[in-house]
Amino acid sequence: MKIGLIDVDSHNFPNIPLMKISAWHKAQGDSVEWYDPMIASVTYAKRDFYYDKVYMSKIFSFIPDYEHCVISKELQRGGSGYCIETVNGKEIFHPERDSQLPPEIEHIYPDYSIYPELTKETAYGFMSRGCPRGCGFCHVEAKEGKRSYKVADLSEFWRGQRNIVLLDPNPIACPEWRDILQQLIDSGSWVDFTQGVDIRLMTEEKALMIKGIKTKNIHFAWDRYEDRDSIIPKLRMFKEVTGYDFRKLTVYVLCNFDTTIEQDLERIYTLRDLGYNPFVMLYNKEDIPKNHKLRQLQRWVNNRIVFNSCKRFEDFDCRK
Ligand code: SF4
Repeated sequence: MKIGLIDVDSHNFPNIPLMKISAWHKAQGDSVEWYDPMIASVTYAKRDFYYDKVYMSKIFSFIPDYEHCVISKELQRGGSGYCIETVNGKEIFHPERDSQLPPEIEHIYPDYSIYPELTKETAYGFMSRGCPRGCGFCHVEAKEGKRSYKVADLSEFWRGQRNIVLLDPNPIACPEWRDILQQLIDSGSWVDFTQGVDIRLMTEEKALMIKGIKTKNIHFAWDRYEDRDSIIPKLRMFKEVTGYDFRKLTVYVLCNFDTTIEQDLERIYTLRDLGYNPFVMLYNKEDIPKNHKLRQLQRWVNNRIVFNSCKRFEDFDCRK
């Protein structure tokens, strides 16, 4: 069979389902390539199909769909970009638009060769899925469920690469967190917890294990202002146990969701006092006017040089 792949979002981050689909088809003796609309239409003009099957994958719902005509005997779409829709600020899952990979494809070692420039020395994958939090601005609950569960061992997507990009939404919420963290320690590779670590679930044992993992930066999130009393002692404890300094510690601060600017500033100042780097994330940023205070707040905080030299937001003048 001739298989075509379409990574609808972009080629700047590897699409894991497509890598697995490619690996599985190659194992069946099929040929796999990126979909080429020109070849497909020229062949179709001669009353033939160039592709037997085309897979389209889309991660983000806000990205427009593939703009060209897709010509193939068979077409399969998948990914949260097709089955999750944001309605009035809430993520809605449409199971009828979802197509799960069968287990024999889901658990195959990915074909990294389709993204040679991105995957040299870096492995990408999930060891757990789901999250018990169910934050209103996040699609994980809708797509993967309101609990964290282990889905794979590291060896399923890692074979000695120097870097590991872990995509788990909330790995330390998983009942098998010890096993997951131990496998990451044993790998000796640099680990990037891309979705952050849930500081509210931190314990001294977890902090010690995380310290045993090679990481360049750990990031947490302080999204809900009302978590103040639980988050602050955990942040203090994590710093004491690991001994990390602020260069290695970032905390995302979600603004424009359900907090006031005073609450945003309080979180930012508190984090700085605790020895963490705050990093402002703006919910629905595209709807915020250009000169709005929140955009200035983000410019001030996220530029480390400016943030460290200008201590108070009211002294920040973005025109200078
Ligand atoms: S804690 Fe993180 S992964 Fe879990 S629901 Fe909230 S934003 Fe999503």
